[in-house]
Amino acid sequence: MKKARWLLLVPIAVAIVLSLRQDPTPTPQVVEESVQPVKSTPSAPLTPAPKAEVAISVLPAKVLQGDPVEVVITNEAPNDKSQITSITFNGTKLKPFVENGETKALIGLDLRMKPGTYPIVATLSDGKSIKKDLVVGGRVLVQAPLGIPDKLGGNTATSEQELLNTLAKEGEIINAIPTSADKLWSGAFRYPLNTEITITDVYGYSRLTGASSIAHKGTDFRASIGTDVVAINSGKVAYVGYLRNYGNVIAVDHGAGVLSIYMHLSKVEKALGDKVEKGERIALSGDTGYVLGPHLHLTIRINNISIDPMKFLALLGKT
Ligand SMILES: [Zn+2]
Repeated sequence: MKKARWLLLVPIAVAIVLSLRQDPTPTPQVVEESVQPVKSTPSAPLTPAPKAEVAISVLPAKVLQGDPVEVVITNEAPNDKSQITSITFNGTKLKPFVENGETKALIGLDLRMKPGTYPIVATLSDGKSIKKDLVVGGRVLVQAPLGIPDKLGGNTATSEQELLNTLAKEGEIINAIPTSADKLWSGAFRYPLNTEITITDVYGYSRLTGASSIAHKGTDFRASIGTDVVAINSGKVAYVGYLRNYGNVIAVDHGAGVLSIYMHLSKVEKALGDKVEKGERIALSGDTGYVLGPHLHLTIRINNISIDPMKFLALLGKT
């Protein structure tokens, strides 16, 4: 049987070699197919194709302040992901993970960072490093007035100062929520609601409250009180609490530096440390905290930077 197979293959190989000689621009596929049978003929040695260099690629192609960015290491040796020992963005270490056989990492671009060019550097196990420059464009920020609800003191200078002070304190609490280095999510991320998606407030606009400008660093979804709020992917509950401005809050750690935070809830249904599945109900929406009406606020953070949740879902929600 084996001999008969070779008898067939050798003429094919000869035919391919002949066709290669006639065609100065053979497709790479033809060359690969001819490698095996020709190998058995000592008189026709082939030089292996040049090894592609390990490189950094990024998605999406064009990024702005407040965007998430996916870094993908291309042309790594198969089954050897130890080649990459670290990846940094502008000198800050990222949390790499392996997905679909590729080493990846996520970057969160701060809404207030200066537009410009920033380096992504991956260090290889042999000590060499590879670099790619990321160009970050400016985002057009919309400004809109937003009053302080009566339950938080109304539109007075005192309640404005109180709002700023407490927002700073709550920011510190949110910043301290831990995220694990290991990737805990699987597959595509999804919306936090099962109901029809209506965005009532986008990420990035500045809310003018008295003399202050407070950036909205999340996405608001229409949700009447008591609507099911579900985890956007699997993970572990990393924070549960009540905050003056954010109301009832639950945060899910998805690992690799990714955190989703759900705010203004009427009820939280999970406890700190609970494992949650993608799409599992974790809370009910509400109107607690600094709100003018019921809605669900979703914050998504990458390495402690709040990025545009809709851009995140566009990037990682369709895999
Ligand atoms: Zn909001």
